[in-house]
Amino acid sequence: MPQSDPDSVAREALLLIGPDPQNWVPDLDGIDHNVVVVGGGQSGSAFAFALRRAGIGKVSVIDAAAGGSESGVWLTSARMHKLRTPKTLPGPELGLAGLGFQAWYEARYGAAAYDALDRILRLDWAAYLDWYRKVTGVAVRYATRLVRIEPAGEHLRLHLEQDGRVTVEAARKLVLATGFAGSGGAIRTHCAICRSNFMRIPPRGSTSGRCGAGQWR
Ligand SMILES: Cc1cc2nc3c(=O)[nH]c(=O)nc-3n(C[C@H](O)[C@H](O)[C@H](O)COP(=O)(O)OP(=O)(O)OC[C@H]3O[C@@H](n4cnc5c(N)ncnc54)[C@H](O)[C@@H]3O)c2cc1C
Repeated sequence: MPQSDPDSVAREALLLIGPDPQNWVPDLDGIDHNVVVVGGGQSGSAFAFALRRAGIGKVSVIDAAAGGSESGVWLTSARMHKLRTPKTLPGPELGLAGLGFQAWYEARYGAAAYDALDRILRLDWAAYLDWYRKVTGVAVRYATRLVRIEPAGEHLRLHLEQDGRVTVEAARKLVLATGFAGSGGAIRTHCAICRSNFMRIPPRGSTSGRCGAGQWR
């Protein structure tokens, strides 16, 4: 049965782990962020939540995309209906079942619907990730692209482009969770096996290939 309050399981999971620990990292003069996470997709969001739960404050998540629906691949370049990843693999929930895809799905469509699901629908996964960011309180600074990293003593100076303007912010640590976009660029091509158009990372010197159909089991 779908639940009348579909977020109650997640709220309970968060309640049971207690409030976020206080930030134990001492401030440093001239440092804007303890950690900048570049990329607000599933990896970056999970990192941001994990760092907060570890008591690391002043964590900033940036993403070059204009907003959540333009970030990552799920609502942009990906065209398949279903994920290839089995539905039972852990996601960004960090071991908290109430924040996982199954809990999200069952609260909305019921346990029988989850049982009947062979693979997660791409659009459901995108909606789940959007919800995950909201329910965990992970805030992403969109339209903010990392364009340059410079050493600054033991720390880093990050050049961030926003609205065509570059600003510099200092960080102790950097997490690059730039996913597909950060892996050397993508090209649009056609898969002879699944007959879909897809985005892929071009192997050196080549412009043709397979989407991985039959490989990701
Ligand atoms: C067609 C297709 C199907 C796929 N199917 C599966 C699947 O079934 N199972 C699976 O596990 N994976 C699949 N993947 C891989 C999928 O991309 C990753 O699993 C998932 O998106 C990784 O999440 P992520 O957070 O690491 O990266 P992404 O979701 O790609 O997010 C990275 C973010 O970083 C941002 N970014 C990049 N560079 C910068 C910069 N310089 N400054 C600021 N922001 C930046 C981007 O805007 C983006 O929003 C598929 C990929 C494609 C293309």
